[in-house]
Amino acid sequence: IRWTEGRGWHDAQLVPYAPLSIDPANMTLHYAQTIFEGLKAYRQPDGTVATFRPEANAKRFQDSARRLAMPELPVETFIEAVDAIVGQDKAWVPSAGEQSLYLRPFMFATEVGLGVKPANEYLFMVIASPAGAYFAGGVKPVSVWLSEEYVRAAPGGTGAAKAGGNYAASLVAQAQAIEHGCDQVVWLDAIERSWIEEMGGMNLYFVSGNKILTPALTGSLLPGITRDSLLKIAADLGYDVNEGRISVEDWKRGCADGTITEVFACGTAAVITPVGSVKSTRADWTVADGNPGKVTMKLREALLSIQTGTAPDPHGWMHQLG
Ligand code: PMP
Repeated sequence: IRWTEGRGWHDAQLVPYAPLSIDPANMTLHYAQTIFEGLKAYRQPDGTVATFRPEANAKRFQDSARRLAMPELPVETFIEAVDAIVGQDKAWVPSAGEQSLYLRPFMFATEVGLGVKPANEYLFMVIASPAGAYFAGGVKPVSVWLSEEYVRAAPGGTGAAKAGGNYAASLVAQAQAIEHGCDQVVWLDAIERSWIEEMGGMNLYFVSGNKILTPALTGSLLPGITRDSLLKIAADLGYDVNEGRISVEDWKRGCADGTITEVFACGTAAVITPVGSVKSTRADWTVADGNPGKVTMKLREALLSIQTGTAPDPHGWMHQLG
């Protein structure tokens, strides 16, 4: 679907996957006005297909668009476009379990010009790709590297938007995580480099017995849809769930004295991933015995059962496609 200044949204088309031809002076290549979303369609036990919370993705896409001075796509148009792709590719939605069809809606400037200003032409597209279970052979805890040198986002920046530039800015720190033998980078706040924000592509949760804490949305972390869903699921299951602040010191001390019993990360791609160990320039430590915890696995099962249609959907999150 195209957007042109003065004309609005027009030219919705369903076309076979193919490369785009891009002008070398396309503004996106230079000034990075590009945003995206990620969501999944799951095969339901009766053979139908349903997407998980597309309306939440549509709203976050509007928030991202506003932050990058891009036009807002109406929520219904976003959902219709995703439905059209899923409808076309329904045979690609795997037949059962954790496998899914991953959907990637995105929008970028198509105007040609070398001046820094909001573009006056954009293209919104949706592409799809089958996604297997994230962990072949069972859930495996990840090791994380605390990034003290680089930050992903700063107050007033674009951290709360799902903008391409945020991911470009994170690549060096992710490479450092790998160099230190870790799977993922964990971001700290930009000012004090002490408060936990989020992981590479996932939000974090800290478990202390019956209490569950996730870093509050400060404006510099992404408001994850899985994060939001788990706030509700955990409360439904009777946990005492809070959004708040947790520092590196709190995390280290909590693991040393046993008050932090589990830590996990959550996002569309991996659903829920236990965090087993932490490395930083200050100290290294493990979370409990480093194995997936009970609460983590219980929440994972609860969320996946809603998504795969094997449990009731009390919050009306599944969007049926028939
Ligand atoms: N944080 C970042 C930086 C991400 O890229 C993602 C993935 N979209 C998340 C958190 C988790 O968000 P969601 O649950 O909506 O996938």
